[in-house]
Amino acid sequence: MSADEIHPVHDRLLGRAEQEALLGQRGRVAWLYGLSGSGKSTIAAAAQRSLYEEGRLVQVLDGDNIRAGLNRNLGFSEEDRRENLRRIAEVARLFVDTGTVVLASFISPLREFRARAREIVGAEDFLEVYVRASFAECARRDVKGIYGRAAAGEVARFSGKDSAFEEPENPDLLLDTEQETVEESVARLLAVLRGWIRP
Ligand code: ADP
Repeated sequence: MSADEIHPVHDRLLGRAEQEALLGQRGRVAWLYGLSGSGKSTIAAAAQRSLYEEGRLVQVLDGDNIRAGLNRNLGFSEEDRRENLRRIAEVARLFVDTGTVVLASFISPLREFRARAREIVGAEDFLEVYVRASFAECARRDVKGIYGRAAAGEVARFSGKDSAFEEPENPDLLLDTEQETVEESVARLLAVLRGWIRP
């Protein structure tokens, strides 16, 4: 099937506005990024639960549900990381079309990757959320034991060590998890999201 043959069907599909009206919310993407162990998944999970309790439909995309399935053929070279995030951004956009709020939780180490994700999703639907903690603090937390393995040379291309992590210049929101408690970081994200996903 060529791309041309797919188009006519789209005229018969429900549009984003109808799906958003059904859910009573706006489809949007909050892109949480930062070093491994900085707090992305902790914050995403807590924010999803709070929003659920407020009647919002939220999908969390993270390494667990993406790298095990859709992107299981990709590794951690720069090229594969770029492709990983490109596909995730495309998937996020599909969710946006259904009116779903997406919390994406990925290291997203390069500015270029984040800019591309914003472009794919569409700037007006994209919130760049830097979840900040220093490499030393993430290594101290070592939630998944990965910093220990990286120090032993067992993890190739580890972000912040032998693979670059570029700090952002101007994120839409900065959650400094070295300075804030989990509850404070989640509350600050929710304060922005609540207004932003309201119809
Ligand atoms: P990531 O998903 O970025 O790899 P995780 O969420 O798995 O990181 O782990 C973050 C760790 O940092 C957790 O053990 C969490 O309790 C701790 N932490 C401390 N302060 C915060 C905060 N303000 N926000 C999120 N996590 C925090």
